[in-house]
Amino acid sequence: MINEVNDFDFENRIVTNEYSSSQDAEIENSLRPKTLADYVGQEKAKSNLEVYIESAKVRQEPLDHVLLYGPPGLGKTTLSGIIAAELGVNIRTTSGPAIEKPGDLAAILTNLADGDVLFIDEIHRLSRAIEEILYPAMEDYVIDIILGKGPSASSIRLPIPKFTLIGATTRAGQLTTPLRDRFGVLLKLELYTTEELATIVKRSAGILDISITDEGATAIASRSRGTPRIANRLLKRVRDFALVKGDGTITSEIAAFALKSLDIDELGLDAIDRRMLEAIIKFYGGGPVGLDTLAATIGEEAITIEDVYEPYLMQIGFLARTPRGRCATRLAYDHLGIPYSTPTQTKGVAGQGSIDFDN
Ligand code: ADP
Repeated sequence: MINEVNDFDFENRIVTNEYSSSQDAEIENSLRPKTLADYVGQEKAKSNLEVYIESAKVRQEPLDHVLLYGPPGLGKTTLSGIIAAELGVNIRTTSGPAIEKPGDLAAILTNLADGDVLFIDEIHRLSRAIEEILYPAMEDYVIDIILGKGPSASSIRLPIPKFTLIGATTRAGQLTTPLRDRFGVLLKLELYTTEELATIVKRSAGILDISITDEGATAIASRSRGTPRIANRLLKRVRDFALVKGDGTITSEIAAFALKSLDIDELGLDAIDRRMLEAIIKFYGGGPVGLDTLAATIGEEAITIEDVYEPYLMQIGFLARTPRGRCATRLAYDHLGIPYSTPTQTKGVAGQGSIDFDN
């Protein structure tokens, strides 16, 4: 099973946090809702935001800084665009890894207009030196510019426009405390329900001019791992099958056929999810196994496992995270058709004891 890693069709991979092509990215943009009313689900985050946005407008002050966190593809970028639109201000978009030097950030900040939104995706990846520019910028709308070097260096304070920072991250825990503390609004995005995803699929089908039945939308939604980006991707792939193998309309039968051909099972698990669960069960007696050990075993990056695969597997109760590592649950055994045995403490491949040196 584990050796299948090279046979897997990475081109067709649905469960990923990357765009597979620039065309994909373009379609993704066209599918982004533009208003809060069009933004499906996340009711709690939405109703709170409505209040904060309204209050900022009444006070004629910028909205407090907002931190959006949750797994990839849940709508953080989309929501930040909506916040700016609802506030009636411009949005400037960048990402943690794209800001290399403190000067890059200073240039962005000084070029904003009063009230503008600055969106920083993957904000947990900002370097420490750059973060330090952000602190006074967020708190007092000023930046400190250092002139010269060594003992003769001096600094001047430069006022910048009153802006709103919206940070997005898949891992709020990796943000430093001083940065996290400077956000006035913290919003956690949750995985979507099948009903919400079916609404998103039908909305996207309307935009892309795809004919789909309610059952077809539900069939796609229930295999989308709670994630709108995956739902939209599946919709496009299933559409191809409907055009070639059917009469162009996505029905539940066509959806089931297409998803089976894409190697996605009825719960939305793909080959990598299954390989991961099988590895935990077959090689590590059901767990616990450390994240890095597991990543090496299945040939995936630890960060991809944590951000992309685990949230859904934990949500459906197939995987448990313990301080000593990951464990497969009985539900996972049942789903894979492997007889359940109580997890053992023995680890290592084929009886070779191995030491678990990570979590
Ligand atoms: P993130 O920034 O969290 O990775 P995005 O904002 O890029 O996610 O969303 C990915 C795709 O999912 C977008 O194309 C968008 O159309 C769709 N999407 C996300 N959230 C919603 C939502 N609540 N309603 C409708 N579509 C959504």
